[in-house]
Amino acid sequence: MAKNYKIAVIAGDGIGPEVTSSAIEVLKKEADKYGFGLTFDERLFGGASIDAYGAPLTEETLEACKNSDAVLLGAVGGPKWDAVDPSIRPEKGLLNIRKGLGLYSNLRPALMFKELAEASPLKTQGEIDILIVRELTGGIYFGERGRKDSDEVLPDGTPKGVVAYDVEAYSVGEITRILRQGFTYAQGRNKKLTVVDKANVLESSRMWREITESLKPEYPDVAVDYLYVDNASMQLIARPASFDVIVTNNIFGDILSDEAGQITGSIGMLPSASLGAPGTPGMYEPVHGSAPDIAGTGKANPMATILSAAMLLRWSLGENEAADDIENAVKKVLADGFRTVDIAGNGEGVTVCTTAEITQKILERI
Ligand code: NAD
Repeated sequence: MAKNYKIAVIAGDGIGPEVTSSAIEVLKKEADKYGFGLTFDERLFGGASIDAYGAPLTEETLEACKNSDAVLLGAVGGPKWDAVDPSIRPEKGLLNIRKGLGLYSNLRPALMFKELAEASPLKTQGEIDILIVRELTGGIYFGERGRKDSDEVLPDGTPKGVVAYDVEAYSVGEITRILRQGFTYAQGRNKKLTVVDKANVLESSRMWREITESLKPEYPDVAVDYLYVDNASMQLIARPASFDVIVTNNIFGDILSDEAGQITGSIGMLPSASLGAPGTPGMYEPVHGSAPDIAGTGKANPMATILSAAMLLRWSLGENEAADDIENAVKKVLADGFRTVDIAGNGEGVTVCTTAEITQKILERI
């Protein structure tokens, strides 16, 4: 009997609904081609959910996501909700859904398509294919925080006054499970793992290194190296093609994945996955936001979301052939000279397409 999968779709705001609807069309075509079934359960999320229910993520939507095989997310936010109470802001919905689904690992491939090399600020000739594995539910973003009064005085005589603090804390368990993911992905790729930290200063980083060393014998085929985060940010610019898998904590991963993404040329091409424990639904979304400036104009590039759908097929459903097929169709569309505005450069020698048109070009190549 053909397999049937349930996909929760939380399109969100701005261009979110436009790009997710393109990805759904592509997923449907792959399901027909490879003989599996897909049921889409579409729910409101972010600003759209605030307007309808007064909260960016309702219990019902979270339950629908938990009961799915995978979640496809568009993007949330926009000026309309910038002034709402911080406790119900659209971004709060993002944090809540990551927490609710236990998504502790964020995967961001930074893959440069050779057809778009001109769009890269580095215009590098080497082939860039980096996978950044970012710890997503620990560290300084989730550590103890607060403010306290201090009577102390700085060496130059300035009174300290109020002190604000955010604590970077990681447990052995949190570090071990994300490092194991890094090792495992490296085994399936070019067998190089770079651990990025600040072990010259931070105690937590020193523990990341100790645990890495203790895990190394279990993955003898993987070559491990360490980089301090400041050096890593330079090396990503200097020699991006030499990286394979990078594993790092929440805050360093947040920053480095944006940097690596930019190296590849366009935010409209970058997919991502957030995963939790094996067997639980993963969440797949473009790296970009809701782009309110172009919402409704047909200018949105749907490829980041379509490539996120390919990751969904691969990582959550195990439909690897269909995933490869989507990625090949995107490459063919680029090779055939079709572009959305964001990746069209000066427009010379390419055919500029709307969201719907480029989706059609991809569907024709499946
Ligand atoms: P953004 O990613 O939405 O847009 C940045 C720039 O890139 C804009 O000029 C936009 O037009 C362009 N762009 C983004 N995606 C594109 C695409 N697919 N095709 C073509 N061009 C694209 O970031 P922003 O402007 O800083 O934020 C806008 C809103 O999105 C804010 O409310 C922000 O909070 C929210 N946001 C949400 C997420 C998310 O849902 N995960 C992530 C980032 C920002």
